[in-house]
Amino acid sequence: LNQSVAGIKGVGPKKSEILKSLGIETVEDLLTYYPFRYDDIQEKMLDEIQDQEKVVLKGTVLAEPVVNYYGYKKSRMVFRMLTEQAVINVTFFNQPFLKSKINANEDVAIYGKWDGRRKALTGMKILATQEEEVDFSPIYHVNKQIRQKTLVDLIRQVWEMYGEELEETLPGWLLEKYRLMPRGKAAYAMHFPEKIEENRLAKRRLAFEEFFIFQLKMIQLKHQETAKELGKGIKYDVKALKAFIQTLPFELTPAQKRVVNEICGDLRSDKHMHRLLQGDVGSGKTIVAAIALFAVVSEGYQGALMVPTEILAEQHMESLTEVFSKVGVSVGLLTSSTKTAERRRILAELASGELQVIVGTHSLIQEEVVFHDLGLVIIDEQHRFGVNQRRLLREKGNHADVLFMTATPIPRTLAITAYGEMDVSVIDELPAGRIPIETRWILPKQVDSVLTWLNGQLKNGQQVYVICPLIEESEMLDVKNATEIYEHLKQFFEPNFKVALLHGKMKSQEKDDIMTAFKENQTQILVSTTVIEVGVNVPNATTMMIMDADRFGLAQLHQLRGRVGRGSLASYCILVANPKSDQGKERMKIMTETTDGFVLSQKDLEMRGPGDFFGAKQSGLPEFKVGDIVADEAILETARIEATELLDDPTWMEKAENQSLVKALKEKLEETEYFDYSVCDRIKDKFNEKRETRENSSRCHGWR
Ligand code: ADP
Ligand code: MG
Repeated sequence: LNQSVAGIKGVGPKKSEILKSLGIETVEDLLTYYPFRYDDIQEKMLDEIQDQEKVVLKGTVLAEPVVNYYGYKKSRMVFRMLTEQAVINVTFFNQPFLKSKINANEDVAIYGKWDGRRKALTGMKILATQEEEVDFSPIYHVNKQIRQKTLVDLIRQVWEMYGEELEETLPGWLLEKYRLMPRGKAAYAMHFPEKIEENRLAKRRLAFEEFFIFQLKMIQLKHQETAKELGKGIKYDVKALKAFIQTLPFELTPAQKRVVNEICGDLRSDKHMHRLLQGDVGSGKTIVAAIALFAVVSEGYQGALMVPTEILAEQHMESLTEVFSKVGVSVGLLTSSTKTAERRRILAELASGELQVIVGTHSLIQEEVVFHDLGLVIIDEQHRFGVNQRRLLREKGNHADVLFMTATPIPRTLAITAYGEMDVSVIDELPAGRIPIETRWILPKQVDSVLTWLNGQLKNGQQVYVICPLIEESEMLDVKNATEIYEHLKQFFEPNFKVALLHGKMKSQEKDDIMTAFKENQTQILVSTTVIEVGVNVPNATTMMIMDADRFGLAQLHQLRGRVGRGSLASYCILVANPKSDQGKERMKIMTETTDGFVLSQKDLEMRGPGDFFGAKQSGLPEFKVGDIVADEAILETARIEATELLDDPTWMEKAENQSLVKALKEKLEETEYFDYSVCDRIKDKFNEKRETRENSSRCHGWR
């Protein structure tokens, strides 16, 4: 099975190159190169067929087809066909030669795509009416250099010679426990399906195997990571910590208490902490960070909190100063705009240990920044930093513990796969008493009436964000759109209220000034491209209007929306959009129905699938050949539990029954020389970047 495919009869150097481009190098690769879907060649009743579904329809041709030519080498062949239920139109594009095969009064079976709205079929293939006993045929991923049929024939040929040799990878007890089909039988049922049920069971088994071995690998890597560097075992003063929590102006939510316990457990233990804290916007991660910082400080260590922007650093500085001043913990702020004298003082105090907690931007990882004894590193909005930047900060301490924080909700299934190697804590509830943000979806033509309503809000002393659409293709267009909207709003609201414009092309000092003016209510309306996405806190801004909202992903809309609803006043989010597709409409509707980030990201995942969700292939998501992390969530979960339990047994590798598994796992581990943490970043970046494909023109059509 390990021999190269180049050794197979009929596979020359050229073909083996082509196979290699599909990831097939050995005989075993070929035997386990499974179809990614099956075309269902079953007949269906017309009303059972979904729009755009691929189906086979049988019927009688009513009249000779008519062929129309248009454009360059383009043609359309249309004929009417009487099925059992109705007369439908069938169209074939650019295949005029098929005309000879379609004759009036003859029976045909056409495989094609159903257009539910027009009640018509776009033909893809003419099937002979007699043959086609098999219900569905496997479809493999191929590329331009190799055809389906060539690959199918090759697999059949190789199967006949080597199929029997495919070895079992899973131990007998697992096969029995979950009634899993043996590996060889499953592979056969994938390539040469005879019965639907058998094919289903084959997929189930292979998906389990993939998920199971993948998770064994992830857990194994995690063990290596945490064992490699021992943590400090910070035996902080529990009483002092409890007293500190008592001084907070509010009671922690149960979810906050839970994650504080998890984090403190890590600090106390000798293991190195490598934990991700996930919590929706406004769920109160900052205070959790403060508690962790207090714990390490109480034991004489220092703590650092790194954030991606200056505005955010200042905000964190403010909140930490507030909670720490009462208990005598010193906090400093270091950013690129820290003045020289102040900077010199801070660096000296960090080196001497006098300064206990430092908040800052990238400035923290500069070489001159030296700590006396750094015990805990917290990185907020971690995906904004590169792997190296995070590593640099961590290395400023001697085995410092690390806590990553993020507000990007990632569906559970993705978290399992993407963060398998990190411990994850989730804050899954918001502090009580928040007034839920009311979200409305309006059409562009309704904007003017909303402006009148906004005027009322402004008169009540509140402030407004107006978010402009993102245009992927060009940052210049972004700015142009934002500027147009800004001008329009100025005309409408000034001089009664002041309007400001903020966009990504501005210098960071300029941005900061504009933000500060907004925070201080010197301006009342802030028109912005998405630069405000991360963490700004202006409780008096209670309304957000998002232009061309359908251009944003659900997760991103959710992040943006989280900027309002920060005070005790009722808050509103107005989505301005005129989506063309049903899915686009559905997405706007979901936004108005829930404010739960996890529900939204799960919906996004379900609607778009994991590939599209992160933007296919290069997403860095582990690739599963058979398993589907959305549809097979239950299998993923079961496999995770089994993998964890198995590895809890220190002798599992020695047991005879597990030897085949040990072998399979070793092969997998060899493929991974070291685990690339940037996988997680790539996933999250994709998550943030991914927007619906642009159907419309790239110009904003929010007005007029
Ligand atoms: P995020 O998780 O988005 O960083 P923050 O830490 O900024 O959220 O918290 C949002 C707001 O909620 C802050 O004003 C904070 O003081 C407040 N807050 C945090 N925890 C609680 C709590 N348990 N009860 C009430 N308010 C809280
Ligand atoms: Mg935050």
